[in-house]
Amino acid sequence: MDAQYPRSIWQVTHDGRRKKPVYAAVMIINMPSREPYEIGVSGSRFVEADESTVELPDTSDLWALPGLADCHAHVTMTSLREFDAITDESMRTAIPINTWAHLEHGVLLILDKGGKSDTTLVTLDHDADLRPFTETAGAMISPPGGYYGNGFGTEVEPDALVEHIRTKAATRGGWVKLVGDWPRRGQGPVNNWPQDVLTEAVRAVHDAGARVAIHSMAHSASDAVAAGVDSIEHGPFLTESDLKILAARGGAWVPTIVNMLFLRDMLGVESSGGKMFVTGLERMRENLPLAESLGVTVLAGTDMAVPHGEVATEAVLLKEYGLSDAAATAATSTAAYRYVGRPTQPTVGAEADVVFFRDNPLEGVETLAEPVIIMRRGKIVRSTRG
Ligand SMILES: [Zn+2]
Repeated sequence: MDAQYPRSIWQVTHDGRRKKPVYAAVMIINMPSREPYEIGVSGSRFVEADESTVELPDTSDLWALPGLADCHAHVTMTSLREFDAITDESMRTAIPINTWAHLEHGVLLILDKGGKSDTTLVTLDHDADLRPFTETAGAMISPPGGYYGNGFGTEVEPDALVEHIRTKAATRGGWVKLVGDWPRRGQGPVNNWPQDVLTEAVRAVHDAGARVAIHSMAHSASDAVAAGVDSIEHGPFLTESDLKILAARGGAWVPTIVNMLFLRDMLGVESSGGKMFVTGLERMRENLPLAESLGVTVLAGTDMAVPHGEVATEAVLLKEYGLSDAAATAATSTAAYRYVGRPTQPTVGAEADVVFFRDNPLEGVETLAEPVIIMRRGKIVRSTRG
């Protein structure tokens, strides 16, 4: 058989013999949990199978997803250890390198949860063929003393937060990132914003057509949920009541287990900070299955704890901490696509984004670490099939 033609589209004649393929431009889409179908590609878009204008690989024995998604990325940075060295220039340099790394791992959707400055938004101006579809927050916003300091992000007094959001905060990338709590010397973690300020701030962001993500590593999550925040980042101390509210309004939770493990190990399990992560991780084991049963939109995020692109690591951890394979797969792909309003399967007229895997991820999320074929906007980014 001529290897360049997808074997699944060889035409079968009435007497059972195979003859020359009628066309070689169709792709078989085996989505987990639905019937296989054919689709074509023309330019950067999916088209009807018979309108395809390019030759496509044989995917009949593979499993398709619309792409992997990292919903807590920071593509302007490379490591959690380099915070002090970040400049606008280093951010600009990092963006194309890190976004390409995501593509090469099959991550075709990124929610960037902010950076040192609004330079994060430069990602949106890069060639869409060479980066994932991206939504991004600008500079992270905290009150003085409420985050790393050293000029990282924008410091705003709580009584100036709403005005800052209305007049200065970048919302073009679709997100505003607030830091919800942070440890203070001698006090442990402190909530950064009064409840009423947070509620008003969320309203101001929504008025601007964007969403709010909040860093909640300690006990700010309940206030954030009550204030209407769209996405809880980390959130180990979410309560059952918080999860019910999030589920009811389609709110998101991005646990970033891989980041919590990284920080626990960096601080040491005997330190006060390390102990908080140990307790938080125990809570994750209770909250993840609960979130799945309640229907919360749980999303996978790496937060720089692993190299850019390796969100499959988080998928495996989400499973280890209590999600089913199906929920861990959704968290790393389809749930994120649904959350941002993009098609959850290859669809005629939509951008031709698709990633193929050897095994059905619903039967083992581990397969997500080894994509076989990656297509972004109609171009093959990577194929292990020559
Ligand atoms: Zn982060």
